[in-house]
Amino acid sequence: MDMNITKILLEWYGDHKRDLPWRKTRDPYLIWVSEIILQQTRVEQGLEYYLNFVDKYPDIRSLARASEQEVLKMWQGLGYYSRARNMLSAAKIIFVDYGGTFPADYNNILKLKGIGQYTAGAIASIAFNQPFPAMDGNVKRVISRLFGVDTPVNSGKGAKRINEILLEMIDHHKPGDFNQAIMEFGALNCKPKNPLCDTCPLSHACQAHLSGRVDKLPVMDRKIKQKRRSFHYLVMLSKNKKELVFMIRKRTGNDIWKNMYDFPELETFESYKNNSRVKLIKTSSVYKHQLTHQLISAKFYIYYFRSLFTVHRSPEYIAIGPGQLDQYPFPRLIDKFIQQELMPEIKKMQD
Ligand code: SF4
Repeated sequence: MDMNITKILLEWYGDHKRDLPWRKTRDPYLIWVSEIILQQTRVEQGLEYYLNFVDKYPDIRSLARASEQEVLKMWQGLGYYSRARNMLSAAKIIFVDYGGTFPADYNNILKLKGIGQYTAGAIASIAFNQPFPAMDGNVKRVISRLFGVDTPVNSGKGAKRINEILLEMIDHHKPGDFNQAIMEFGALNCKPKNPLCDTCPLSHACQAHLSGRVDKLPVMDRKIKQKRRSFHYLVMLSKNKKELVFMIRKRTGNDIWKNMYDFPELETFESYKNNSRVKLIKTSSVYKHQLTHQLISAKFYIYYFRSLFTVHRSPEYIAIGPGQLDQYPFPRLIDKFIQQELMPEIKKMQD
């Protein structure tokens, strides 16, 4: 293994790393929060969430005491909400089983809910200076190109090969800097599209560059089929005294957006015939939302009920007014509809 590569990466990192708040700390809690937020999220978007999150929950104790609804509300718009639910469960365990002190042992870190090998490696190396690799998408791409690994990086075999290379490369004195260097190098220099090969300090050693395969690596296995789902939402408005209210529903099933709120949803929709006490106000445009393995398209039907709805007397449904919207966590697609179509409609009716 050419140890010069490690040296060059560390030097590059010293010169190019972005000034980010979690790079100025070795507090395992803060590193954990930043790593979880940055999974599946770009730094530019994640930064604001990170700052708000650690402002509200500056330590394990404050997070462990929070309610799930509150934490999900903080997470609204970031997606992959199981990350927030798992963080809350893990914080409670650290608080109870470890007296509020983050465990320093890699295997104990790995046992915490929502922490996989990547996050455990990042925390162990950055906060506790232990030589464990942290292999995310950026790292896989960089290693696959540098060493010409053509096994699919999202297969077990590919990940194993990359992990072996990382174990040989990792700097035992600065494992945290090494892991961050390679991730940052992937994000800024060896980017998925248009990597900066012309000015790259590693181009002389890069197998992909030397063999003209930069756009062919990394190889991805695309076996997972995407599920298509169509949601039909019923948005029921009514008046409670003088305030316009609408029904929202807590999603309790074992499905996407668990414990977040949306509207009563139908798989098939039948018209309310000629019921004059119910008026269809608006049928929304189609909203689309791409999840990793699902493509959601949703349509919303806004109805006005002249007498306050009594149909859905179920704990799942809550009647709220616009002033209470900020208390409930909504998936991004639902929030978009509320802001773009429901609120203007309510405003029109109230004026
Ligand atoms: S030469 Fe290009 S492909 Fe190779 S490491 Fe540098 S940026 Fe990445």
